[in-house]
Amino acid sequence: MSFARSAVCVKCGAEFEATPTVTTCKKCGGILDIKYDYEGIKKALTPAKLKDRREQTMWRYMEFLPVDPDVVGRINKLKVGCSPLYKVDRLAEKLGLGSLWVKDDGINPTASLKDRASAMAVVKATEAGMTTIACSSTGNAASSLAGNAAAAGYKTYIFVPERAPKGKVSQLMIFGANVISVEGNYEETFKLSAEAIDRFGWYNRNAAINPYLMEGKKTVGLEIAEQLDFKMPDYIAISVGDGCTIGGLWKGLKDLHAAGFIDRLPRIISVQSTGCYPINRAVMENKPWEPMEENTIADSIAVGVPRNPDKAMNAIRESNGICVNVTDEEILAAMKLLGGYGIFGEPAGVTGTAGLKKACEEGLIPKGASVVSVVTGNGLKDTANAIKAAGEPMKLRPELPLLIEAFKKAGKPLE
Ligand SMILES: *Cc1c(COP(=O)(O)O)cnc(C)c1O
Ligand SMILES: [Zn+2]
Repeated sequence: MSFARSAVCVKCGAEFEATPTVTTCKKCGGILDIKYDYEGIKKALTPAKLKDRREQTMWRYMEFLPVDPDVVGRINKLKVGCSPLYKVDRLAEKLGLGSLWVKDDGINPTASLKDRASAMAVVKATEAGMTTIACSSTGNAASSLAGNAAAAGYKTYIFVPERAPKGKVSQLMIFGANVISVEGNYEETFKLSAEAIDRFGWYNRNAAINPYLMEGKKTVGLEIAEQLDFKMPDYIAISVGDGCTIGGLWKGLKDLHAAGFIDRLPRIISVQSTGCYPINRAVMENKPWEPMEENTIADSIAVGVPRNPDKAMNAIRESNGICVNVTDEEILAAMKLLGGYGIFGEPAGVTGTAGLKKACEEGLIPKGASVVSVVTGNGLKDTANAIKAAGEPMKLRPELPLLIEAFKKAGKPLE
């Protein structure tokens, strides 16, 4: 039994039954939001009860999820969620913050936060009696779907734009997906996948179209809250592409608030690239969003035509949030910076941290604030940009005097 009650359109308010295959609003085409019986959740689950729970995956928050627990139990699943929240005091000090935590979601089984949505998609497809799932993606949604579907024994059709980095494409091939590399941008890739899904009746794991994906992504917010004993920080910084991740984070926090688990909500720092920031631009200029070019190395957030702008803009506005745009140089610098604390993120993965750093430097957030920065994807997915960020290693012939000489020349003599 689930506490999910209905799917409500964020645009016109129309309410629909939360069937496993529900997609967008039948009246206006708007994106749907899953609503729960929060009083029921309150009675069934408390923070104390949660503490005693053994399950160390995103499914530990079952009461907050729109699924049939028996179906979840039946599927062969990867271990998604319960990623670490690191307290990084040295970095907090450097940025003038009171406290700083980094949530490393790159440790998920296919190495990005997208696993939370794909694990959910596999469950909902199962509930609908379907075992073929399709999506289009800039990379991580695809690789996570391919991996989580492979674990369940399901078939996938995956449409990626040709610019998707090798690391991500290699995951798709290894997980045995049917991969279609589309000669075009993300927008064109998305369109082709939508037409094919329509034609062949596959389960649709496309961002935003499927309201359950956000319910999977919201578990990152549930975890952050639980890991902080339900005492929320002042801010949470996160990178934004289609807008589903920031929307999911915010939905998780709002659900916790509605069920009485937390008594205040943090402000969300929405970070995009200066080369592609349609959502931040709309909020900053207080007008409807418009398409933008996709000019950034952060491929996972190079989304000129966002699929979920309404929920993303709601998250920023409702939380009294902040918009920050960062350059590719600032993204590369953040990769190197987090590396110094043992955390390796891909460009879009560290964009939230790059934005946080910039917000601190520009005085957009007060000194002494408490902040969580979410790293959304692992750096091994994009080693070319990692080398760009950190440089090539020293090269020399295998002779000790050469080693000593080289370090002396570099100005850091060996000791
Ligand atoms: C998809 C993705 C994002 C952004 O999520 P959206 O839902 O597209 O806004 C950020 N970082 C990484 C690593 C991603 O894969
Ligand atoms: Zn509607």
